[in-house]
Amino acid sequence: MITELIEGLSITFKHLFRRPVTICYPEQTRKLPERARWRHVLRRWENGLERCIGCDLCAANCPVQCIYVEAGENTDEERYSEGERYAEVYEINMLHCIYCGYCEEACPTGAIVLRQDFRLAYDKRSRYIFGKDELLLPIGHPANPSLPHEFDVP
Ligand code: SF4
Ligand code: SF4
Repeated sequence: MITELIEGLSITFKHLFRRPVTICYPEQTRKLPERARWRHVLRRWENGLERCIGCDLCAANCPVQCIYVEAGENTDEERYSEGERYAEVYEINMLHCIYCGYCEEACPTGAIVLRQDFRLAYDKRSRYIFGKDELLLPIGHPANPSLPHEFDVP
């Protein structure tokens, strides 16, 4: 009995001086591995135009078909992207997404990219449908001019 007690206390004592393996999230966060990929963003060119040309290749390559794209025609008066078309509707169902990155690989303009923001917990299912308003980066955001596979911006 005494032996087991001493053995148990010795384990407790040993762990008293070890560095804790837990952190106080969300006040503290861990540095993620360089290649960690979570939340998607739609990027722009340096001139502010959207990179997305509504070609649908990301949706075609998505293994779980959680991307929905509806293309619209650019006009001289109303131009959103450099091509003939732009994504009038762009939606990702984040509940279905498996974060494989195939959409990023398929995109010919580097428009859709996955970044390191993993905070994707919401209390409503409808909140998991990310539309363009949520995905498209604002003009001047530092992630816009960077290349698809640079790891510069979270
Ligand atoms: S990361 Fe994979 S599953 Fe998620 S939207 Fe892109 S292709 Fe689809
Ligand atoms: S994100 Fe890329 S692949 Fe998807 S529709 Fe836009 S340009 Fe095409």
